[in-house]
Amino acid sequence: MSEPAIIAVAITGSVPRKKDNPALPVTVSEQVESTHAAFEAGGTLVHVHVRNDDETPSSDPDRFAAFQDGVRKHCPGIIVQFSTGGRGRELAARGAMLHHRPDMASLATGSVNFPTIVYENPPAFVRELASTMRDLSIKPEIEVFDLAMLTNTRMLVDEGLLLPPPHVQFVFGVKHALPPREDILDFELQLMRELLPGATWTAAGIGRDQFTVARWALARGGHVRTGLEDNIRLDRDTLAPSNAALVRRTAELCAEAGRPVATVAQARAILGLRPHTTTMGEAA
Ligand code: ZN
Repeated sequence: MSEPAIIAVAITGSVPRKKDNPALPVTVSEQVESTHAAFEAGGTLVHVHVRNDDETPSSDPDRFAAFQDGVRKHCPGIIVQFSTGGRGRELAARGAMLHHRPDMASLATGSVNFPTIVYENPPAFVRELASTMRDLSIKPEIEVFDLAMLTNTRMLVDEGLLLPPPHVQFVFGVKHALPPREDILDFELQLMRELLPGATWTAAGIGRDQFTVARWALARGGHVRTGLEDNIRLDRDTLAPSNAALVRRTAELCAEAGRPVATVAQARAILGLRPHTTTMGEAA
């Protein structure tokens, strides 16, 4: 039987605006509701950015905590991943919510140009975020926007700042970063296996190539990411009506590739996270 595929859903992000897709969840209650529907469709990992009331990116730890409380209540066992991403947020604020101890948090191990800004991740800042996550038992998701981010990750492991094996996400399709090319993914995987034995991985395609990149990942035993942060369309002509619709489309691709969609328990085991326990104390 082939390895189950984890479907991660990036529900909001920091860039899409509600006026471009009315289905985008912006308030915490909209985010919890959207995550619940995506969870029922097969999404087992939620990646979240929170927003201020005017839709600008927020660093407010209370909003992250309120989101986490809501989804833990409505989506038993879902893997919560906070974004430490940069747009519109000062460096010091980007890890300010980690004391709420999500299961995971994103960690970009180098800087890269984004469409209109530099996504700034200076070496000392990366080390500080990594050590905070290590100390709070938060599993990082290593965001790889170029090859040096893989070699930097190996450095963090060697320095004891990151517990192996890591979980890596290869990101394609961000303007000014790596384009979606299958040969680039293959080379990245080769390097990852050499530098980070036992690492698990996801590939994320931003924009219209999302489902193409998902197919490449599924065919190679990787995991997949979807969601309105990355792509607001089901196809060229159809705006996605919800995060759940994108998850359903991704689940169809898993079926086509002969990969079962991972359950919460399987996703947690694959990523080496603690099992979800019910209030009765039983593993679920
Ligand atoms: Zn994000």
